[in-house]
Amino acid sequence: MVRRALRSRSLRRIKVKVPGGRVVTHYKRRKPSPAKCGGCGAVLKGIARERPRKMQNIPKTRKRPQRPYGGVLCSKCARVLLKEKVKSLG
Ligand SMILES: [Zn+2]
Repeated sequence: MVRRALRSRSLRRIKVKVPGGRVVTHYKRRKPSPAKCGGCGAVLKGIARERPRKMQNIPKTRKRPQRPYGGVLCSKCARVLLKEKVKSLG
C-alpha cells in the first residue's frame, strides 16, 4: 500500500507509463479553480490554470490577454466599462 500521506483524495492520481513499460501512479496537487471575471463571474479565457510556482515559469502572455483589464474582466464587461468611461469624458 502506498504511504499514508498519498492516500488523500485531495491529490490527483496520474497514470504514467515509465520507460520500462510499466504503468505507475504519480500523485500531484490539484489545479486551482479557473480565474473569474470581476464583473459577471464568468470563467476568464486565455488564462493558464496552474499552481503559483508553475505560473512563475509561464510566459506573461499566457497569464492574461493583452488588453486593458485583461485577466480581471471578461471581454464583454471590459467593453461596457470602457464605453462608459468614454461617455463620461465627452
Ligand atoms: Zn464579465
